Amino acid sequence: MTGLAVVDQLRERPGVGDTIAIIDPVSEEQIGEFKDGGAEAIDAAVARARATFDSGIWRDKPGSEKAKILWKVAELLDARAAELAQIDSLNTGMPLGQASRNIDAAIEFFRYFSGWCTKINGVARDIRMSGGLNGYDATIHSYSIKEPVGVVGLIIPWNGPAFNAAAKLAPSLAAGCSSVLKPAEETPLSALVFEQVLEAAGVPEGVTNLVQGWGHTAGQRLIEHPDVDKIAFTGSTEIGKKIVEAAGGNLKRVMLELGGKSPTLIYDDADLERAIPAAAMGIFMHSGQACVAGSRVFAQRGVYEPVLQGISAFAGRLRFGGPNDGKVHSGPIISERQMNRVLGYIDDGKNNGAEVAIGGHRLDRPGWFVHPTVMTSVSSDTRVFQEEIFGPVVAVTPFDEDDEVVSLANDSTYGLAAAVYTRDLSRAHRLAGRLDAGSVTLNCQMMWDPDVSFGGFKQSGWGYENGELGLDGYLRSKSVWTML
Ligand code: NAP
Ligand code: MG
Repeated sequence: MTGLAVVDQLRERPGVGDTIAIIDPVSEEQIGEFKDGGAEAIDAAVARARATFDSGIWRDKPGSEKAKILWKVAELLDARAAELAQIDSLNTGMPLGQASRNIDAAIEFFRYFSGWCTKINGVARDIRMSGGLNGYDATIHSYSIKEPVGVVGLIIPWNGPAFNAAAKLAPSLAAGCSSVLKPAEETPLSALVFEQVLEAAGVPEGVTNLVQGWGHTAGQRLIEHPDVDKIAFTGSTEIGKKIVEAAGGNLKRVMLELGGKSPTLIYDDADLERAIPAAAMGIFMHSGQACVAGSRVFAQRGVYEPVLQGISAFAGRLRFGGPNDGKVHSGPIISERQMNRVLGYIDDGKNNGAEVAIGGHRLDRPGWFVHPTVMTSVSSDTRVFQEEIFGPVVAVTPFDEDDEVVSLANDSTYGLAAAVYTRDLSRAHRLAGRLDAGSVTLNCQMMWDPDVSFGGFKQSGWGYENGELGLDGYLRSKSVWTML
């Protein structure tokens, strides 16, 4: 018994397919279950989203009214913040304090995008034509109109259920879109609170629609659906590629926030008291289940040993447990399958010449906990160096100079984030220009703000979330020409 109302509410929702169990990754016990909505629930949800979009009930609402409603969503979420933190920490196993910070950030998305509702404008231009391509001799007034893209499918992963839902719902509502949200099958609970809050705040029925189910049934139907205009997705590169394929059917727009293999560069002159704990938390927070996790640390030769020792000692001091275990720093891996995947990567590294400085094993307790693991002598052509593990596993590698470390850092199919620690700020800014990553942090790590755009290069994604660029992904621009 969890004592959480959403568990019963979810069980009672109708569905057509399999019953899906919700497992607590700390106790390995089932805490609830629900029915896969399948393609049928997606079809019905897309039809409702389409009807509300075409009716203009939300799209055409004045910006000031949309803004009030989004602000109200934030207030109502605030009132349920403690409950939401409990739900997400139970469902993912993350410590309660961390879940609370996630919820606060989720709420900020609604406040931030509430401000944008009244500021969605195109641009005007006065053009004097003489001859030119069409031979006109005329004065033209041209302007652009920003319109919502239409019906959007929002597909999110399990690592931050409420945070990821808010990151997509808030800008899609601010832009005037209607949407269908499909949470990850492992973490369906907090989305129910969003559904209730959006309705209570005054978002008209059918504008946002929640469908719970499997990725291969409900998710697949959503990405193929001919009446969906855009998919906004966070998750694995593998499914990202499937979405691109499925989007070809009706050429729907696609925003992809995918994985990473992010490098952390620590120079000889860095403030190690800042760099070591930040680099360690950059990979071990949430047991490495973060898209921006700094899974490759490069330490300049002069500080290689203290960096390796410091991160390993940090790993040894971390306390693991569930949300109710008192003061813990980190929780488990989300599922047994995922834990075995992480352990498989560690074995693969060892079989290919890497050494384990600390960790490398499951914790001796119930739950899917992997001891934070530091690996050395990791060759750049091995899977541990190249692939996203999504677990608490870091490869620490020495380097001597800039060109060498830039080429090692950029030797990846991913390009999501990079961090640099040095007291030489000129060097730091030069490196910011050379590192192939959508976000570069200098003398800090894991930075986030709803106003700062976030997106991946290379196979880390397409498009942006957060900020004006993030909003823009839910808008289309129409050009209007008037001959005066
Ligand atoms: P995933 O398979 O990419 O799942 C993400 C979302 O996509 C979930 O809602 C999933 O639904 C859905 N999905 C799965 N198959 C789909 C399909 N054919 N069509 C439409 N939607 C589909 O990620 P995962 O299995 O949860 O994790 C696997 C790996 O992805 C991790 O090890 C990690 O490397 C990466 N990952 C990255 C991020 C990130 O933030 N960049 C987040 C999570 C995971 P179901 O859950 O119902 O299958
Ligand atoms: Mg899944």
